[in-house]
Amino acid sequence: MSSISQGEPSRDGKTSKLPAGIYVVATPLGNLGDITRRAQEILAAADIVACEDTRVTRRLLAALGIPARRLMRYDDHAAGRTQPALIEAVQHGGSVALVSDAGTPLIADPGYKLIRAAREAGLAVTAVPGPSAAMAALSVSGLPSDRFLFLGFLPQKAKARAAALAEVKAVRATLIVFESPRRLPESLAAMADIFGPREAVVARELTKLFEETRRGSLAELAAAYAESGPPRGEVVVIIGPPAEITVAEADAAPDLDVRLTAALGGMSLRDAVADVARATGRPRREVYARALALGIARK
Ligand code: SAM
Repeated sequence: MSSISQGEPSRDGKTSKLPAGIYVVATPLGNLGDITRRAQEILAAADIVACEDTRVTRRLLAALGIPARRLMRYDDHAAGRTQPALIEAVQHGGSVALVSDAGTPLIADPGYKLIRAAREAGLAVTAVPGPSAAMAALSVSGLPSDRFLFLGFLPQKAKARAAALAEVKAVRATLIVFESPRRLPESLAAMADIFGPREAVVARELTKLFEETRRGSLAELAAAYAESGPPRGEVVVIIGPPAEITVAEADAAPDLDVRLTAALGGMSLRDAVADVARATGRPRREVYARALALGIARK
């Protein structure tokens, strides 16, 4: 199959009109060389470029030698204002390229409400994939990559963050977390406290001049950053999956899993957890964590 779809820039280099629709365009994390050829073509040909911050996108377009076309600021929180205009433009045959400041739109970035509205309106939505900090960090971490859970940004307040971490503690997958450098030391300490001795990687400034990955147990990383202070730049934390369960847990687990699987087939998560906790005499928290792990396994 041809990799060039109908209506995209022609082979002679001239930009032809794009078919109506929204194009979700990934942009570099910091290294301009990571822009894809197709992303450049779409950005050059789109009628409107919807972006998080017009100054950032104007700079990107200038660096790519693309004349600043019609830029519109889009933000999920203020979706009410721009969204109808973008949807209407596409309904009238226009093309909208959606970008964020860096990486893939919608991944801890604006765009979800717009894409949902476009889908509901029956409009075409096309992926123009490329850089994404979560995938880049996972790919260089050396931690298991066959099964992972992206958590986005953790809550900022200590109590809410602890609850969010406890909720995923038992999930048998590598975890991917975005964190601000300022909160990194305390966040790693909270992870060490709640997850125990799990292997982790802090990936910093990926694709940029000072790219660095630090690897160690959560406690070692927490201690290192407590001593050095918050790092500069942007970071992703990758946490390896929990260790295999103990023999005692393994003995009990099949019974728990069988009961939970049966209960989850016929009732809500909440009722299933209450029912199985009552029947097995195990703490609700543990049954809930196991139910979540089973839920992930079934996907
Ligand atoms: N949608 C973007 C993507 O696909 O990469 C992510 C946007 S989110 C608002 C920004 C977060 O991504 C940062 O706080 C950091 O956790 C991570 N990030 C972005 N660029 C990075 C880089 N060059 N190195 C490490 N982490 C990065």
